Amino acid sequence: MTPLSTVRCPTCNAASPPGTKVFPFCSPRCHMADLGRWLNEDYRIPAEPADPSELPPPESDDR
Ligand SMILES: [Zn+2]
Repeated sequence: MTPLSTVRCPTCNAASPPGTKVFPFCSPRCHMADLGRWLNEDYRIPAEPADPSELPPPESDDR
């Protein structure tokens, strides 16, 4: 069991060194790059449609 497992930089996917100031990013550069992406609304959280019609219909027993 490793309390400090390897964390990957969200920007470049490199292993982030533990204890970095810009954790979980590997470097301030990657941190800023990620921040810029957020500001540009490049990140889109896929919204799950809460549609009741998506649910399976109740069991009908009309034989
Ligand atoms: Zn990085």
